[in-house]
Amino acid sequence: MCSKVATSREHVPPLCLFPENKDTKGIDFRKNLITVPSCDLHNSKKSTDDEFLMLSLSGLIKSNPIGTFHQLTKGNRALRRKNKDFIEKEILRNHRYGKIPSTNGKFRIVSIGNPNIERLLKCLKHIAYGLFRHEFDRKFVGEIRVIVEFIEYNDENRQTLKKFLKRRFELEEILNLGVKGANPEVFFYEFHKPDNYGLIGLRTVFYGAAEAYFSFIDENSKEPFNLGMKLIEGGTHTIIQLGEEEFEFNKICDNKK
Ligand SMILES: [Zn+2]
Repeated sequence: MCSKVATSREHVPPLCLFPENKDTKGIDFRKNLITVPSCDLHNSKKSTDDEFLMLSLSGLIKSNPIGTFHQLTKGNRALRRKNKDFIEKEILRNHRYGKIPSTNGKFRIVSIGNPNIERLLKCLKHIAYGLFRHEFDRKFVGEIRVIVEFIEYNDENRQTLKKFLKRRFELEEILNLGVKGANPEVFFYEFHKPDNYGLIGLRTVFYGAAEAYFSFIDENSKEPFNLGMKLIEGGTHTIIQLGEEEFEFNKICDNKK
């Protein structure tokens, strides 16, 4: 992330995302964890970010049982040390409780609110830098863009972009550098080889379901690497074809109909 001298190594993703042996009664979810060199600033400064990320990801409704388990053990211990308004302030704004049907015909109490997207993106980008360093053995210099798959956006373009990126990773298996991660119930990832424009894709999956997609736009990548993105951001009605499917951005609404 920076050019300072590395003084330690840090875990990617953060160690606290992985259940501890004392909770799992011996099942090891901390096998062969990834570490990368880090400077003091980028390692120690983010300790509260690590906890934030753990609380944001482990309790998602669609997380696998390991995520739920981690939320109920380590997550709850962390929350007990916080003020009552910690969730509202730091994790979910406009926090309220709701009920959703569960599989046994009963209801489950869930938290509803607006995620702290700025902080979530910061944490996820930090992980992306670390994974890049681990995979390619060099520092990434350029711009990283993130789309968080498990957030429901009000913006229709972002919703379409999520589906588009998911499909792209499914279809372009040939580009895949392999699914990696020694504890896949907690975390795994896959990189795509650079495309013709030098753009690299990354998919990360936490607790079996919480996905995030990244584009690494190298400082030396050639234009027009993001022509499609520029059209979409500029508000132009754009249709991108992927396999048999079409993804439509900036749909024209005809109110006169
Ligand atoms: Zn640093």
